[in-house]
Amino acid sequence: MSDAALLNPPTTHYEFFGPAGTMVVTVATTAIPYLLYYGCETAEQCPPTSWSAWKNRLQRLTLADLYDSHIMLLYLAWFAYLVLLYYVVPGSTKPGTVLRTGQRLLYRINGFRSLLITCGLMFTVHRLYGPAPFIYVYDHYVHWLTASYLFATVQAVLLYVWSFRGPSTSSATATIKLKSDADLKADGNGATASPSTGAAQPVLLALGGNSPSAFYNFFIGRELNPRLGDFDLKVFCELRPGIIGWFVLNFACLIKQSQVLNGYITESMALIFFLQGLYIFDTLIYESSVLTTMDVTTDGFGWMLSFGDLTWVPFVFSVQARFLALQPVVLGPILAATVVAIGVASFLTFRLSNSQKNIFRTDPHDPRVRGLKYIETATGSKLLISGWWGLSRHINYLGDWLFGLSWCLTTGFRSPIPYFYVLYFAVLLIHRERRDDHKCRQKYKKDWERYCSIVKYRIIPGIY
Ligand code: NDP
Repeated sequence: MSDAALLNPPTTHYEFFGPAGTMVVTVATTAIPYLLYYGCETAEQCPPTSWSAWKNRLQRLTLADLYDSHIMLLYLAWFAYLVLLYYVVPGSTKPGTVLRTGQRLLYRINGFRSLLITCGLMFTVHRLYGPAPFIYVYDHYVHWLTASYLFATVQAVLLYVWSFRGPSTSSATATIKLKSDADLKADGNGATASPSTGAAQPVLLALGGNSPSAFYNFFIGRELNPRLGDFDLKVFCELRPGIIGWFVLNFACLIKQSQVLNGYITESMALIFFLQGLYIFDTLIYESSVLTTMDVTTDGFGWMLSFGDLTWVPFVFSVQARFLALQPVVLGPILAATVVAIGVASFLTFRLSNSQKNIFRTDPHDPRVRGLKYIETATGSKLLISGWWGLSRHINYLGDWLFGLSWCLTTGFRSPIPYFYVLYFAVLLIHRERRDDHKCRQKYKKDWERYCSIVKYRIIPGIY
């Protein structure tokens, strides 16, 4: 068997109900951001009074409604600006998880600083030019959506084609090669500083992206970590153009509302800006924790992540702020206090549980996790069975979902459109939990069954 065949075994297990399922998901997820926009185009039509009104509106759309070449160029400039920050802003370097090749890729960590610089830039632009540039961003919402969609799709096609290239030598500065346990302990972060050199290696494919179906592979992603030199496209897209873009869109919505309300904003707008801002800042403050997520360790960089990171995140997650820009909602003290209470409790659940696992996995002797119970597995990894991780096997998902609910509640109860987020996110998290369970069952075998018999619930303690 060739090196490439040994390294990249064929995919035998399909996710998303196989090739047909991924086609349905592709079409549906392409349509949804547009349906959400045109389902809530004006305060009176959110949602339209009937499905036929909605359909009529969609049928009247012209190319100019959907696409604008200036915005396309500005989107490319936005992407290039973030690439520039990636290179010029000082940051640290962190190793990713161990790959099947035995190597660990190095990642540049300066996303949070890129966010702060962008905030500074937004503040400066607002001081110099007032609200106009942000109203422009708001008014071209659909054009941005289409620009990001085209970029994400073209990127996915190019990456798919590029994944068929022949073996190459990995960049000496971009990877580190593991030597021994002693070396791992030597530098405290599990990696040695000796660069990999020499022999050409076949392209490392995602285990799930090497099936007989070309479309399925395009969707899931063939190559695990496509890179241009040291520049890791997947991790860059995962955290920067979409997530930081979402923050800019939310700010544009806030400015739009203050224009409509003669300089004021409602407490609901302040809340959504603050709560989602907290999520965005948290994501980038804990930038390196993305390196151990399924997206980075398991999934290839295909259409699913390219579209998800660049289009879905900014344009589906900003629906509440856009709704509030159209329809200023005054929550009143009781509902506002409820939103804050759910937001704070769920954010703490999400953040503390994720941090507890990260600390435990980095250093089980850390005083913050030393007293926790865990089980040893045959692979050498330990699984927590007390603390947050004794409550359910994915208590972090529950915190994340409830945090999303607090965002939706900022819009009151006038329209179901902003609640689409919690519906979709429930489906995503339930499906994600099943995928993670499948992965862990294969990895830990009998130990996973033992773990599940101790921590019985998947996501919601006592219920599910
Ligand atoms: P998790 O952070 O929950 O990590 C799952 C992995 O953790 C498992 O594969 C296993 O990996 C390890 N693990 C499982 N149980 C234990 C345990 N008891 N003790 C120690 N390690 C354990 O998964 P995700 O990457 O899916 O999610 C990370 C965060 O990102 C979540 O908070 C989620 O809500 C959020 N998220 C948000 C999304 C969004 O769109 N807003 C989308 C997806 C995720 P190992 O093989 O190392 O043992």
